[in-house]
Amino acid sequence: MRNYNFSAGPSMLPLEVLEKVQAQLLDYEGSGMSVMEMSHRSKYYDAINNEVEASLRELMHVPDNYDIIFVQGGASTQFEAIPLNIAKNKKADYVITGNFSKKAYKEAQKYGDYKAAASSEDKNFTYIPELKRDMFRPDADYVHICYNNTIFGTRYTSIPDTGNVPLIGDLSSCILSEEIDVSKFGVLYAGAQKNIAPAGVTIVIVRKDLQELFDPLCPTMLKWKTQIDNKSLYNTPPCFSTYVAMEVFRWLKALGGVKVMQKINEEKAKILYDFIDNSSFYTNKVNKKDRSIMNVPFVSPSEELNAKFVAEAAKEGLLTLKGHKLVGGMRASIYNAMPIEGVKKLVEFMKKFEMENK
Ligand SMILES: *Cc1c(COP(=O)(O)O)cnc(C)c1O
Repeated sequence: MRNYNFSAGPSMLPLEVLEKVQAQLLDYEGSGMSVMEMSHRSKYYDAINNEVEASLRELMHVPDNYDIIFVQGGASTQFEAIPLNIAKNKKADYVITGNFSKKAYKEAQKYGDYKAAASSEDKNFTYIPELKRDMFRPDADYVHICYNNTIFGTRYTSIPDTGNVPLIGDLSSCILSEEIDVSKFGVLYAGAQKNIAPAGVTIVIVRKDLQELFDPLCPTMLKWKTQIDNKSLYNTPPCFSTYVAMEVFRWLKALGGVKVMQKINEEKAKILYDFIDNSSFYTNKVNKKDRSIMNVPFVSPSEELNAKFVAEAAKEGLLTLKGHKLVGGMRASIYNAMPIEGVKKLVEFMKKFEMENK
């Protein structure tokens, strides 16, 4: 039996994709082997590598003046890669809206004059700070934001105006969940394991004018240009997760693309938030206008009840609902592959639990 997995990542994959992968596991398209076993220089993988790039470009409407690479190391490796790839003045501004943006900022600080332009840490990251162009230094190499804050359940609902300073966005927990105007960014990046594929592949989208600004000491493997010049095949890529990404992109295209996905995601999030807001038992502490549609943290009236909730939900096949230790309580991550039925089942359980424990 398949459970509903509300994990913040790795997370659920679409059932159709898992079934397709299962069917192709022993013999991928007549190759007599699985994608896990085959050469990344084979004609089979070459087709995967081409399609995955073209599909993502289509799904996100990535303009021609951007390159897309599929690399290893997770989003966390990009925290370090960013200041080494765009190192013109070795100064940049970070907006701190949670744990991951803070980690990105800490990595950059090793390399030069990196400042926090704004932060929402004063209220335990329950909101997105108001951002204005004059908060950023005009000679900064870039401004870095984390678009959806996985742990705290906040997201940007508009793209900040940084003037001529390139904007960099960490999309790890929201890529392909809502329409985003790529042309407003210099660089976008995301690990795959929340909305796209199993862990292993990381997507980086880089505008062409930002590809030659790297620090001369930037390690070859961290340099975006290395993989851009080699179509992500400079070294052995994470073939299997890239192949699953290709299948997820096919699934998403068949569904109608990101616009349709966004509608479904908004509907799922609304079911959950509406229920929480109408309940006197559960609370979500995030500023309403900044609420994430991917990660929904909530608490019951006590620590004991939170623990009981998580344990009893698991028995009903509603898994991994424990909140992050920095927030406590519960967190329901409802990424693209979480069916609406999963959210409805969660709400039914929440009702029952409230009645039994009020
Ligand atoms: C999960 C996550 C990361 C870390 O990703 P890894 O691939 O584990 O390095 C970074 N940023 C955000 C927003 C995330 O949700």
